[in-house]
Amino acid sequence: MYHFNPNDYQTELVALLLLLEKKEKLSPKQLAQLVKKHTKPNGNVFSKDEIIRGYREFAGKHGLAPFSDKVLKLVTMKPMRTQSGVSPVTILTKPFPCPGQCIFCPNDVRMPKSYLSDEPGAQRAERNWFDPYLQTYNRLQALHNIGHSVSKTEVIVLGGTWSFYPEAYQIWFIKECFRALNDFGVIDGRDAVLDWYSKMAESLETKNISRSADPAQNKKSLSQLQIDGEEMKTTYNRVISQQYTAPERLGGFDAYQTATWNELEAEQQKNETAKVRCVGLVIETRPDNISEAEVIRVRRMGCTKTQIGVQSLQNSVLELNKRGHGVAATRKAFKLLRQAGFKIHAHWMANLYGSSVDKDKVDFEGLFNDPDFHPDELKVYPCSLIGSAELMQYYKAGKWHPYTKEELADVLVHVFKETPEYCRLTRVIRDIPSSDIVEGNKLTNFRQIVEHELEQSESTVKDIRAREIKNGTFDPKDIEFNVTEYQTSVSSEYFLQFTVPASKVAYKNTTRFAHEADKILGFLRLSLPTEKPFIFELEDAAMVREVHVYGAVVAVGTDSVHKPQHLGLGKKLLENATQIAKDHGFKKLAVISGIGTREYYRKRGFTDGELYQLKKIK
Ligand code: SF4
Repeated sequence: MYHFNPNDYQTELVALLLLLEKKEKLSPKQLAQLVKKHTKPNGNVFSKDEIIRGYREFAGKHGLAPFSDKVLKLVTMKPMRTQSGVSPVTILTKPFPCPGQCIFCPNDVRMPKSYLSDEPGAQRAERNWFDPYLQTYNRLQALHNIGHSVSKTEVIVLGGTWSFYPEAYQIWFIKECFRALNDFGVIDGRDAVLDWYSKMAESLETKNISRSADPAQNKKSLSQLQIDGEEMKTTYNRVISQQYTAPERLGGFDAYQTATWNELEAEQQKNETAKVRCVGLVIETRPDNISEAEVIRVRRMGCTKTQIGVQSLQNSVLELNKRGHGVAATRKAFKLLRQAGFKIHAHWMANLYGSSVDKDKVDFEGLFNDPDFHPDELKVYPCSLIGSAELMQYYKAGKWHPYTKEELADVLVHVFKETPEYCRLTRVIRDIPSSDIVEGNKLTNFRQIVEHELEQSESTVKDIRAREIKNGTFDPKDIEFNVTEYQTSVSSEYFLQFTVPASKVAYKNTTRFAHEADKILGFLRLSLPTEKPFIFELEDAAMVREVHVYGAVVAVGTDSVHKPQHLGLGKKLLENATQIAKDHGFKKLAVISGIGTREYYRKRGFTDGELYQLKKIK
C-alpha cells in the first residue's frame, strides 16, 4: 500500500484527484496543466505513478467517489501495452549453458545465452537475481502502478534453450511464476525471496565468488570474463559453468531452485480462480529439443505457445552458422507442436552467413508455401553484428557483411507482403541497444519505414498485428465474420475471424494508410487433424489452438461498454468452430487452455482431461 504523509502530500493529492474525477477526457497537454494546480509541498508535480497509487489508496475516502476505471484511464501510461487484451509479463531464465554454437549468437556472460545485459528486459531480470517470483511479481506491480489491469496475464519465459535446463529447475521456475501470480494483490512474498538470495550471496562471497543483483557490480566483476568474438579465448558455456553452474551447486542454489510436479500442480490449481490468471504461458526452445515426450512435458507445465528458432530453411545456411540441426528437425518440431495444439511462434533470420537478399526472400516464402511450417506468429530477426559473437571473425575476414539499409528494407518489404492474414508478425527487428551493434542497421523503427514503403507501393499488409483494432471505435453492425482455410502436413487449419472494414473504424491521433486491411476484433485457430495424434486423449478430437479477442484489458465488473471483449465474440467464435468440426465428422472438441482460462471453458461445457479440456460435439 502506498502511504502519504498526511501533513504534506495527502491534501494536495486528494485535491488533484477531485479535479480529475470531474473530467471525462484529457489530452496529455491538459493533464500536464491540471497536475500543476496541486503540487507537492516542495513544488514538484505528482508523477503519474504517484497519482495512480494515490487514487488506488484514497478512492472512496476524503470526499472522493468510489473507485472507477474512468479516473485511471485519464492518467494511464503506455496504454498500448495491454491493448491486445492480455497483459504480457516477460521474464528470463538464469545464465546457463546452451547446446547451440550459433555464430551469430551473443556471448554475454551476465545473461542467459543470446541476451544482452543492456537490454531493458535483461536488466530487469538481473536486478531480480533472475528469480521467477521476483521478476513476475515486480512486473505485475509495475503494470499495476501505471494503471493497467493485470487480471489476464501471458507469461513469456525467455532465455537460452528452455529444454536444456534441468527439469527440477524448470518445474520450480514455472511454479514460482504461478506463486507470484497467485500472491499478487493478496500477500507479498518478495522479502523472503530477497532474503534468501542476499544470504546466498554472502555465503558465496566467503568463497570468493561474486554474485549480485546489481548490474553495475556484475559489470565490474564479470566484465573481464566477457568473451571477445574475435579472439574467442574461451566459450560462453565454459564461463557459465565456472561462474554460475558450479558455484550454484556450492551455494545451495540447486537445492533451492527445485520443485516437484505436485508443488507446481498445487499452484496451477490455485491460479484457476486467482485474481491474476495465467491465460497463456510461452517458452522458447530449439527444434532439435522437441520430441513427443518434451511436448507432453511442457504441456503439463501449462505451456500454450512455443517460441522456436527456425532461423533458416536452408540446410547449407544452418550448417555454415553452426546451428547444430538441419531443416528436418524443424519440420518434425512443427509437426509435433501442431498435433499437440500449441501456438507456434517461429523466429526467422535474414542476412545470415551464406545467405543473400534473393535467397532470404525465397527462404521466407517457404515458411508459408511448405505445408510442414505455417507458423502462427513470427519474429523476424535480421542478423546483427554483436562484438561478442563468433560472427565477428567472419566479418573481419571479409566473409560476411551486414545488409545495407536498402537491402534490409527490400527483404522486410517482401516479408510483410508474403505474411498471410493468419500470422502475427510480432517483430521485424530485434530491439538491440545500438551500442551493442558493431556495424549494420541500428534503427529500431524499421517496421514504420517498411510500412511506409508498402504504402507507397499501394500494398496492403495483412498480418494480424497490422490489423489489430487497438483503440479504434466502430459500430457493431459493421462487424463481419470470415474463415480462411489452409493445409499443413498434419491438419486442415481454419482461421476464423471477426473483422471491421478499415474505412469503418475511427482512430484518434493515429496515422492512417490508404491501403489498410480490415481490422481484426478477434480470431480463433481451429485445427482438424489429418493424422493420428500421439497424445491419447486427442484421439478423434478437433483442436482449438487459440481464441483471442482484442480490447484493452478490462477488469471483471468494471466499465467495459463498446469493447470487443464484451460483444460475446469469443462465444460466437467457439460456436462456429464447433459447427465446422461437426461438419467434418469430429465427435469432440479439445482446447489447449491456459491454466487461468480453465474456468472459462468449464462454464462452456468443457471437462478437464489430462492435458486438455474437452467437449463432446452433439
Ligand atoms: S541455440 Fe539459441 S541461444 Fe543457443 S547458441 Fe544458438 S541462438 Fe544462441
